[in-house]
Amino acid sequence: MNLEQQLNELTKKMYGSSIEKCTDAQLYNSVLQLTKDLLAAKPAITGKKKVYYISMEFLIGKLLSNNLINLGIYEEMRQILKKNGRNIAAIEEAEPEPSLGNGGLGRLAACFLDSIATLGLPGDGVGLNYHYGLFKQVFRDRLQKAEKNDWIEENSWLTRTGATFEVAFGDRKVVSVLYDIDVVGYQNGCNKLHLFDVATVDESLVKEGIDFDKTAIEKNLTLFLYPDDSDEAGNLLRIYQEYFLVSSGAQLIVKELKEKGCDLYHMDEYVAVQINDTHPTMVIPELIRILTWDEGFTMEDAVNVVSRTCAYTNHTILAEALEKWPLAYIEKVVPQLVPIIKELSARVAKKYTDPRVQIIDKDKRVHMAHIDIHYGYSVNGVAAIHTDILKETELNHFYKIYPEKFNNKTNGITFRRWLLSCNRELAELITQTIGEGWKKDAGELEKLLGIAESQGCAAEEDLLDAIDSIKQQKKTALAAYIREKEGVSIEPDSIFDIQIKRLHEYKRQQMNALYIIHKYLEIKGGKKPVRPVTFIFGAKAAPAYVIAQDIIHLLLVLSKIINHDPEVSRYMKVVMVENYNVSYAEKLIPACDVSEQISLASKEASGTGNMKFMLNGAVTLGTSDGANVEIHELVGDDNIYIFGKDSDTVIRHYEKADYVSREYYEKSPGIKAAVDFIISEKALAVGHRENLERLYNELLNKDWFMTLLDLEDYIAVKDKAFADYEDREGWRKKMLVNIAKAGFFSSDRTIQEYNRDIWKL
Ligand SMILES: *Cc1c(COP(=O)(O)O)cnc(C)c1O
Repeated sequence: MNLEQQLNELTKKMYGSSIEKCTDAQLYNSVLQLTKDLLAAKPAITGKKKVYYISMEFLIGKLLSNNLINLGIYEEMRQILKKNGRNIAAIEEAEPEPSLGNGGLGRLAACFLDSIATLGLPGDGVGLNYHYGLFKQVFRDRLQKAEKNDWIEENSWLTRTGATFEVAFGDRKVVSVLYDIDVVGYQNGCNKLHLFDVATVDESLVKEGIDFDKTAIEKNLTLFLYPDDSDEAGNLLRIYQEYFLVSSGAQLIVKELKEKGCDLYHMDEYVAVQINDTHPTMVIPELIRILTWDEGFTMEDAVNVVSRTCAYTNHTILAEALEKWPLAYIEKVVPQLVPIIKELSARVAKKYTDPRVQIIDKDKRVHMAHIDIHYGYSVNGVAAIHTDILKETELNHFYKIYPEKFNNKTNGITFRRWLLSCNRELAELITQTIGEGWKKDAGELEKLLGIAESQGCAAEEDLLDAIDSIKQQKKTALAAYIREKEGVSIEPDSIFDIQIKRLHEYKRQQMNALYIIHKYLEIKGGKKPVRPVTFIFGAKAAPAYVIAQDIIHLLLVLSKIINHDPEVSRYMKVVMVENYNVSYAEKLIPACDVSEQISLASKEASGTGNMKFMLNGAVTLGTSDGANVEIHELVGDDNIYIFGKDSDTVIRHYEKADYVSREYYEKSPGIKAAVDFIISEKALAVGHRENLERLYNELLNKDWFMTLLDLEDYIAVKDKAFADYEDREGWRKKMLVNIAKAGFFSSDRTIQEYNRDIWKL
């Protein structure tokens, strides 16, 4: 039977209908079922050694189109649907998006799984099956409200494996149920994403919004992803979740090792465990517990083999984001780990007196990262500058003890999702121009720069025209989508300036807002821009992060004021899209002209949004932070807009505590006017006094992430970028260089490096 016949059989069997006649949802479910059957028939990727990528988050996004692409049948399916009068885009829309991550860290884990399978390496993800994932964001009264995000339908990508494990807490036992999602490589076999769920989970616990009884652990354990990727979680539920993940994961790893007949004393020859940030750190004491309690290991032997098996990735230097759990919390949730953690801590204390490297500090708090560094064999940062800062500043005292453990692995993104799937037109143009090779070896994208030499200047001119025309097409499509979803009409001929990422003060959406106010005041003062600009934002804020909520409020206030002012809205619009997620990113990124990557230097470990934009021909406006530094090196000064103080200067300001935002405010009339606007009558007429005043005071009296430090430079460089956009020929060249140099940021390259230096599969 060919694919079309198989699909027809399925729609008939499942819904008594044909491809032509069933609803979009029915057709989606039929294609889902067909794809799952094809995945199940794919060979598993096998080998002597396997990596387990353990993470609290896997921000996988929708899976249908990516699975079809990796199976090599996307085009065929598109044609089949078309022939039957159906549109594949509408079928893709019917898929609910699982939001099993907060942002970059979770999305990275998803990109890595794609690359591990694409490279044919044995490697599985280990995570949790949150029923409602991260909250769904809605705007009411220009404020963010959180609702539950229901994604598990009767038919889904999850397959119940039948495997169960018992997880014991201090005060109760729960049963852990294993679900798998197939992860197929591009033109390769399958690995798994293992997602654990608590057997007694009870969705009816959630009544209003995202509130639920936090104490009913056996019912709530896997309902929500803790909606916070930066602030210290002040509650026990997070520790219950973390232990549930690592205990289930460790039991699965030991079970699979035994099934393969491996000698556990040589576990490290068969397994690498990559710990994605500190959240799964307890896998180290948990593996030690299993080996000593159940397998007869001495403490010495268990510590040694586990330390040769586990490796740690650091994702942040924000002090408030480094997990430090009170020992008393761990004692309450998992008392069985406490003697092990104390033993690990005592071993460190015996060797090193420096209080900064201890596992349990004088306040009886457990520093999770310190467990990873002492008892893992690799510590990596996620961009060159980030790893340098870890070595030289944040983790310098550890680097002095273990220089050989530290290494850099600059993040990457899977080009299957972030180009082939989200920008099929551009991917096809590239293939027509330089052949198919880039899909397996992203470095070949550089061939795009040799077109003038190899095929003549006319061919390069055609290429630039085609890139520009695809960009225009994507902007038009986004404008239509935004009009439908957000009810705002935007002009496809305007410059699309986009900042999409979690809302956090260090990412400085507030600085972008101040630029917008500045522009607004200029227009009101009679200075009209040459070309209209559309400022687009997308961001969720942790519900407990008050200032982040206030920044969202300011953005919504600005969009109200500006979009409804006939004098100004001809020149600028502001759109804050609701519920920014992976699917929205896939629509926004191909349509972007200017990519906003404006974190305070030293604070963004890497960023991956910056890479997605570059690959799709946007030009970066950014600080010398994270992977922006490497983008800058690759594309050169002419193809990026860099501004702001560098990380050394910023780190010195923190050390000396000599940054005073009010000085910048008082020094510059432009800055003063922009900041004052936040509490102006105009703003207060549409916004809430409480939110706006709080934000205003924060900027004037604290501004911990130094917004005003870089504001003037930001305004100057951003104006320059917008002016340069008018040199259409020059700008198209910039687009081309960005696309051509993006190959380095393929997660295939990143994973090859992890494998070469850390996993050795
Ligand atoms: C890539 C991605 C991120 C990370 O963006 P940064 O700009 O690197 O912070 C966050 N959320 C989603 C949905 C993404 O796709």
